[in-house]
Amino acid sequence: MAEFDAIIIGAGIAGLTCADQLCRRGLNLLVLEAGAEAGGRIATDRHDGFLLDRGFQVFLTAYPEAQRVLDYAKLQLQRFEPGALVWRGGAFTRLSDPWRRPRHLLATARSPAGTLLDKLRIAKFRRDVLADDHGLLQERPETTTIEMLRRRGFSSAIIERFFRPFLGGVFLDHELQTSSRLCEFVFRMFSSGAAALPAGGMQAIPQQLADRLPDGVLRLNSSVKAVHQGRVELASGEQLSALRIVLATEAPAAAKLAGQPLTGGANRVACLYFAADEPPCAEPILMLNGDERGPVNNVCVPSQVAPTYAPAGQTLISVTALRWTTAEALASDARHQLRSWFGRSVDAWRHLRTYSIEYALPRQTPPAPAGVSPRIAAGVYRCGDYCDTASINGAMASGRRAAEAVIEDLER
Ligand SMILES: Cc1cc2nc3c(=O)[nH]c(=O)nc-3n(C[C@H](O)[C@H](O)[C@H](O)COP(=O)(O)OP(=O)(O)OC[C@H]3O[C@@H](n4cnc5c(N)ncnc54)[C@H](O)[C@@H]3O)c2cc1C
Repeated sequence: MAEFDAIIIGAGIAGLTCADQLCRRGLNLLVLEAGAEAGGRIATDRHDGFLLDRGFQVFLTAYPEAQRVLDYAKLQLQRFEPGALVWRGGAFTRLSDPWRRPRHLLATARSPAGTLLDKLRIAKFRRDVLADDHGLLQERPETTTIEMLRRRGFSSAIIERFFRPFLGGVFLDHELQTSSRLCEFVFRMFSSGAAALPAGGMQAIPQQLADRLPDGVLRLNSSVKAVHQGRVELASGEQLSALRIVLATEAPAAAKLAGQPLTGGANRVACLYFAADEPPCAEPILMLNGDERGPVNNVCVPSQVAPTYAPAGQTLISVTALRWTTAEALASDARHQLRSWFGRSVDAWRHLRTYSIEYALPRQTPPAPAGVSPRIAAGVYRCGDYCDTASINGAMASGRRAAEAVIEDLER
């Protein structure tokens, strides 16, 4: 007789979404997590009163899976100003969303980040992705993001000055080789909702799901070494049995546990945090490097978005790089580059921490995963962002689908 109806391996947002669904159905469940906390890649460290997300990331309020499951009010979501400031030729110019910020229409139209035709094409792109729903997006023709932008007629100026740093920062892919379907999905999410940070840091998102689990369901510091028919073996040697086993780890760990070859690579990122007395930008807005030079891709001031990210009277600055050699050189190179953006005040910034994350996102060049089955062997299932759009939404969607498959098979 199995000890559990289901064991889920991994307490990232995919595993937690799966666990949430299975608990609602009253299953006798166990979640095994190798790390000391739930949340996986959505993690927040506390450092001298600052909240440091492990790599800059944002929550898009339009994510349909999140809307179904999360209590937004409890997350106290703090919103970014729509659009971005683009650094180009020694000055910032604004590219805003004129539907939400009509007052910035003129500034956006005049921005040298692209031609007027480019801005009209952005409006058409927005209209096209909003006219489609996520399901239909999966059926759209697919190419790389860079190729899709070119086919849509965007000038190389706006691609280099805006799309490359903006979408490159979303996919952590400077070359924009990511599937155009992901690009369309993400553009739809940015166009129909807000980018936000929870007041308690990004980790508050998975923590909300972890807190819902009944006592004893989540076991931390429990790394799984192997999966056998109806049984898992922990690194400690302990063996546990279950009717169903869900692999909710990153792709490389899932491939290893399933005894399958690993397909697809990963995109990496580095994120540097600095503290300052004064914010370098008064607005809660994303700043993009449109200069095509230097390691910095984008900058933002999380404490301008959510004041809880810094102690009173202080400022937290986040700097993201997609291309760098060593973390040590990156800190001084980034400071050097940002001196030209913000002047000598940068010299007084205090470097808090650098996160270099090798496996940040699964690389999703075409063909992007669509309709990936959660069933991988008899009684064994999988979920994770590599099974869907590489994002919080995709991870949650895959977790829900794995739970639905488990329930269906148990009821059969
Ligand atoms: C720097 C960065 C920026 C990002 N920016 C965004 C963004 O702005 N917007 C967005 O939507 N998404 C963003 N993402 C992506 C998003 O965070 C991920 O897609 C999502 O968190 C993946 O969740 P997951 O559950 O699939 O995997 P993970 O979070 O990786 O969870 C897998 C879990 O499995 C555990 N595990 C692994 N092996 C074992 C084992 N053998 N035994 C037990 N447990 C194991 C791991 O410890 C981990 O907790 C970003 C990611 C990073 C890193």
